[in-house]
Amino acid sequence: MIVRVLGSAAGGGFPQWNCNCSNCSGLRKGLIKAQPRTQSSVAVSDNGKTWVIIDASPDIRTQIEGFAPFQPGRAVRDTAIAGVVLVDSQIDHATGLLFLREGKPLHVYCTDMVYEDLTTGFPVLNMLAHYCGVQRHRIEVNGDGEFAIPDLPGVRFVAVPLDSKAPPYSPHRHNPHIGDTIGVLLEDRQSGKRLLYAPALGRAEPRVLALMEQVDCVLTDGTCWRDDELQLAGISNRRATEMGHLPQSGPGGMIEVMRGVKRPRKVLTHINNTNPILRDDSPERAQLTVEHIEVAFDGMEIAL
Ligand SMILES: [Zn+2]
Ligand SMILES: [Zn+2]
Repeated sequence: MIVRVLGSAAGGGFPQWNCNCSNCSGLRKGLIKAQPRTQSSVAVSDNGKTWVIIDASPDIRTQIEGFAPFQPGRAVRDTAIAGVVLVDSQIDHATGLLFLREGKPLHVYCTDMVYEDLTTGFPVLNMLAHYCGVQRHRIEVNGDGEFAIPDLPGVRFVAVPLDSKAPPYSPHRHNPHIGDTIGVLLEDRQSGKRLLYAPALGRAEPRVLALMEQVDCVLTDGTCWRDDELQLAGISNRRATEMGHLPQSGPGGMIEVMRGVKRPRKVLTHINNTNPILRDDSPERAQLTVEHIEVAFDGMEIAL
């Protein structure tokens, strides 16, 4: 099983179009040691030919053009992307569906909560019905969460309900439900190796920590270093935790949480452009290295 990070930035990407924070302006001016990053998405394959993407970011065109195995190779209109799994209904995870409208019906795997958001507050699935059409496959979160994707028989998919937040346009924004946000456990059926992908983790629940201890790799939420990071940068008063993202530093933060998880390789993704860990030579990045926590980059591949 190969898991490829297509985009390792949070919503807005890095640099963000209207952002003049020290990271974004530093990157534009070539003053910091950092790489640009597109918005959050990963791809998984069991043979390197057929792929399923988890989340479809607004940067999907760039991501397809940057990865030859996705590109048409067998017919005049063709793709190696067999399906799209959505972890939630956020703009940075679902907008990319609109840029896949020219093809055959899209196979979209999502929970009932995400389906509701994407047919009401952010009705991309209704819109696509007028173009390629969508074949929606239900991810059930009340049972064991397991679902199959026929084009990827070598991978077992398990939805892991997570504590985060539905987006502002969701009809149930202020009434949280199981299935608003999921993580996805990917298991290679041959090797038995497992990866947990959880780009939006608001809280480290004991159940999730226990699961992390059973996997070989955790690819999780690296949005903000500090809970008050946006405020500190003079951008907004919203805290990382209010947006459903556990910050890395501070008591109960991701570093502390990860210290308690011994087994897996630990990688952070979905990194906001304000986060100092984007700078390769920052003290915050050095602190992660000491903790054996890696920072994902666009194009990173994890083979399991
Ligand atoms: Zn996001
Ligand atoms: Zn910025």
